[in-house]
Amino acid sequence: MARLPLVIYPDEILTRPSAEVTEIDQDIVDFIANMRETMYASNGIGLAAPQVARNIRIMTIDVDPDQGGKSFMHLINPIIVEGHGKTSYDEGCLSFPGLVAEVRRKKTIHVQGYDLSGRLLDFEADGLLAICFQHELDHLNGVTFVDRLSPVQKTLVVRDYLKRREEDEEDKQIADILRMHGVASEREAAEAGEAVLKTGVRT
Ligand code: ZN
Repeated sequence: MARLPLVIYPDEILTRPSAEVTEIDQDIVDFIANMRETMYASNGIGLAAPQVARNIRIMTIDVDPDQGGKSFMHLINPIIVEGHGKTSYDEGCLSFPGLVAEVRRKKTIHVQGYDLSGRLLDFEADGLLAICFQHELDHLNGVTFVDRLSPVQKTLVVRDYLKRREEDEEDKQIADILRMHGVASEREAAEAGEAVLKTGVRT
């Protein structure tokens, strides 16, 4: 098993609709084991295959991760047969580090999908499981949770998110440059970084 690198927005992979899984072979078995490990290691309650760079219709979910994996589920080629009612929840996403946004979803859903043994899973979901399932299913259709916001909200939220990422990237670059120049300790790096920022030096 291996922890897979996460695909971070804005990456084109997250906008592509994923293809159905046509054969459950060892590659798919291993891939789901890796998705499981990646989801838990990233403290996520759900993960869709595009978030680890594969556009195929697989999701893993565990909305109660404190139960030591008892609530873990994986779904291959999942669909929503029907949905009812409305709910909203402050959602986050492993592909949008640090971003939380209130998204409206169906309250209860009737779900179908397959597991690794090819067995048909057919169940009703509500609460956090229903929200998480809809979030992951969106990923399989190339839709992210910010696409569920109003156009105005989406613009504002994405702008803030991208600005924050840019700042984080700049901080990282400065730290890298300082490391290259042999500034060893983290404290030294932070102080030197501040000095660089104050004088506005960019190399
Ligand atoms: Zn997500």
